Amino acid sequence: MLRNASLLVAACLALTSSTIARAQLIVSEKEVRREARVEWLSMKRHLSVAHDPRIQNYVQCVANNIIGTLSPEQAQADWEVVVFDEDQINAFADPNYKIGVFTGLLRVADTPDALAAVIGHEVAHATEGHVMQRARKGARNNALVLLGSAATGISPDLLNEGAMLSLNLPYAREQETKADMIGLQSMAKAGFDPRAALSLWKNMAAAMSGKGAPPEFLSDHPADDTRLDTIIKQIRPALITYNQAVEAGKRPNCQAVAAPDR
Ligand SMILES: [Zn+2]
Repeated sequence: MLRNASLLVAACLALTSSTIARAQLIVSEKEVRREARVEWLSMKRHLSVAHDPRIQNYVQCVANNIIGTLSPEQAQADWEVVVFDEDQINAFADPNYKIGVFTGLLRVADTPDALAAVIGHEVAHATEGHVMQRARKGARNNALVLLGSAATGISPDLLNEGAMLSLNLPYAREQETKADMIGLQSMAKAGFDPRAALSLWKNMAAAMSGKGAPPEFLSDHPADDTRLDTIIKQIRPALITYNQAVEAGKRPNCQAVAAPDR
């Protein structure tokens, strides 16, 4: 009887601690989403949006084609795409499905296919819930510190210091590899040529060398060789997907616009 009682107590304790853990998780997801929202609104308030509407239309077109390949539930999320007039080579997609692209990225990702490789990668981070996974694995404090620093008063200088979550979140290596793999498939499914990803990542590494803090998609990534190996292995299945998409009539008609002169 006593033994049964202690088992019951143990069971209740286990239940309670799992309930608490779940409650904490819910709070942290809410917090992460709320802080990401504050950060997004701050960026829109403090940074200039690209003046040329053709640039916005171009990036929106590539993003729409990628988003169109997602599950209906994900495709119907509250996606928003903004091109910021910043010379940095950078892009991100946050946990609230907000995609930010800096005009500097267009200097390196200079074709619709190459831009689709970056956007496909970033969209995969968002749809796979990579920020939330990091929060669950105990990186919560790091994520919130980063989010908090962005929320307390963002200035363009902060961008250079790399203090912002969306641009500088340390994703895990396996998350980066997964984002590369999923990104390659989604760009191919949309009808963008996945072979563009190979030259893009090579050009990107060259363009960024010796230029301070790397953008999200180059920070904490697997070593370049490992990354290229992953992409080379995935190129064949991605090409099959691409050919099927092209045969099915998927030819994204996004008019490329060059990055503005500085
Ligand atoms: Zn990444």
